[in-house]
Amino acid sequence: SFQALVVRKADDRITQSFETLDDNLLPPGEVTVDVEYSTVNYKDGLCLTGQGGLVRQYPHVPGIDLAGRVVASESAAFQPGDRVILTGWRVGEVRWGGYATRTRADAAQLVHLPAAMTTRQAMAIGTAGLTAMLAIMALEAQGLAPGQGEVLVTGASGGVGSVAVALLDALGYPVAAVTGRPEHGDYLRRLGAKTLIDRSELAETVKRPLEGERWAGCVDAVGGAMLARVLGQMKYGASVAAVGLAGGATLPATVIPFLLRGVNLLGIDSVLQPLDRRRAAWSRLAETLPMALLESMIEEVALADVVPVGEAILKGGVKGRTVVRVAE
Ligand code: NAP
Repeated sequence: SFQALVVRKADDRITQSFETLDDNLLPPGEVTVDVEYSTVNYKDGLCLTGQGGLVRQYPHVPGIDLAGRVVASESAAFQPGDRVILTGWRVGEVRWGGYATRTRADAAQLVHLPAAMTTRQAMAIGTAGLTAMLAIMALEAQGLAPGQGEVLVTGASGGVGSVAVALLDALGYPVAAVTGRPEHGDYLRRLGAKTLIDRSELAETVKRPLEGERWAGCVDAVGGAMLARVLGQMKYGASVAAVGLAGGATLPATVIPFLLRGVNLLGIDSVLQPLDRRRAAWSRLAETLPMALLESMIEEVALADVVPVGEAILKGGVKGRTVVRVAE
């Protein structure tokens, strides 16, 4: 048997409970994994509370990320005892996810844990951190390099934002961090932010389609009016990596920054990202992200205590990253 956080829906009411389940309820897959850690991303908040239409079938076990130890494998690529990471692929949405002490996965979706990284650190990074790395890789592929000016990070004290700030600083970029929570200013400076920008300064959509050229690049976790506004502040030829929608899914912008300044809007998806790009991103995270800074982003909770964190993240009330201890 195994333990899991089970979400049920009855009469349009969502309930969550910590349950012991029979092994015959494990999802299908070639590799059986004892989960050690999981995490809470924005999407986990949605799946835990039945919002966003992501979960179609109940009962459901959420958790879009997990890391743990292989206990059985029908794939030659994984041996019992191997440490592995699973993120995305709609695990925790359309199939049962990481909020369980045991699961099964397809070998083609698993990444080996990089040497010198623990499963706890992998989940401190999680989909949020992986996505921050993918966003930076996309900006670099589009020509971003140190020495071009400040790189903007929106939603900076959230999960994607915190890891993006730390990574960009470690890579030698001067970082400007946008936050609506000035009380986290010291935290953001410790992560590497050189400039702090109040969310209210960018909360209004486009006033003029072009403003002064300010940013050499941008990792945007917010979307909505803020993304629209930032497009008009990008330097000539610079790129914005659109990662999230914490501030809304609309884009009340004009096309002028694309036409007159050659600005690029790069879409970032972590869910169906091919395996070779994932491996490359995880190994760059292992070599680039200062693990002491990662530690300073973490709150740790037990699996049984994950629901309030899921509710809080949807209100923009979580700082940094939450690690979920699954194996006690
Ligand atoms: P998070 O920890 O909640 O971070 C979001 C941050 O955005 C908050 O901490 C807050 O930062 C800011 N924010 C919240 N509400 C806002 C509002 N109304 N207006 C402006 N800023 C607001 O969530 P996360 O896990 O980092 O995810 C961030 C976003 O990226 C989510 O939309 C998520 O769905 C998306 N995402 C996408 C992918 C992908 O594959 N494309 C992967 C991971 C995440 P401050 O308090 O510092 O302002």
